[in-house]
Amino acid sequence: MKVIRSVKLMQQEILAITPKKIGYVPTMGFFHEGHISLIDTARVENEIVVASIFVNPLQFGPNEDYDTYPRDEAKDIMLAEESGVDILFMPSVESMYPKEMSISMSSSKQSAVLCGRSRTGHFDGVITVLTKLFNIIQPSMVYFGMKDAQQFAIVDTLITDLNFPITLVGLPTIREANGLARSSRNVYLTADETEEATWLYKALIAGNQLVVDGETNPVIIIKEVLTVINTETVGTVDYIELLSYPELQPLADINQQCILAIAVHFNRTRLIDNLLFDSNGSIVKRLG
Ligand code: AMP
Repeated sequence: MKVIRSVKLMQQEILAITPKKIGYVPTMGFFHEGHISLIDTARVENEIVVASIFVNPLQFGPNEDYDTYPRDEAKDIMLAEESGVDILFMPSVESMYPKEMSISMSSSKQSAVLCGRSRTGHFDGVITVLTKLFNIIQPSMVYFGMKDAQQFAIVDTLITDLNFPITLVGLPTIREANGLARSSRNVYLTADETEEATWLYKALIAGNQLVVDGETNPVIIIKEVLTVINTETVGTVDYIELLSYPELQPLADINQQCILAIAVHFNRTRLIDNLLFDSNGSIVKRLG
């Protein structure tokens, strides 16, 4: 495995391997099973697998955890190598942003809800860095986790709107045995919070079960999820929403593919989770 830390060297490397089919997994590192599942699938479906680790300052708000975001380069390099990554791209902030950007990108419609509402500018930072990374790496396939389903929907629009010749793949959320979605941010949780955090998934499942049982009113589903969270945890709900997917528009009735999504604060840690399902409640496994 090659570890490349500068944009220029990465571009030279890509030129040398073209026209091989590149599968790409963008990440912020501190690898867990969720990241590895994306790499494993990319390994099966492509000739060359590129993963990147870049904690992108542009997508963090002033009061967010950019400085404390968990990092472990040595372990990530080992795990990437073990998982069959061919090139691990770990650019410095200076290499990615040698000067302040004077071109700005913004995503509108799909950013007005869910995490976009509470994290102003977050998705603008995400699409900016991904545009740069897609241009540098020139992948045929890009792999994202459905854990960040709003991100997936916005990247889908980015690829369509800007005509990137890329197939986008969304893979299922990897969870602990108790249902807690794996996340680099889980290390912030105390033992009690970790226990309570398992209720995010259980609450989503309770909401989904109502749909399976024939309920079509989003208000009733959301109320059920809220009741479970408020009864079982001391977390503060940021949002619980049920929206069309991937459009992320409000629904009067559950009559198409939709997302039931939740964000809850446990002290300084904000956790997100979601379920994506069809109008009859059956869970969507892979997108793209
Ligand atoms: P991050 O390093 O948190 O930016 O995540 C990098 C990629 O891994 C994104 O596409 C995430 O959606 C995906 N990912 C994060 N957590 C999980 C998980 N528990 N299961 C599957 N994919 C995940």
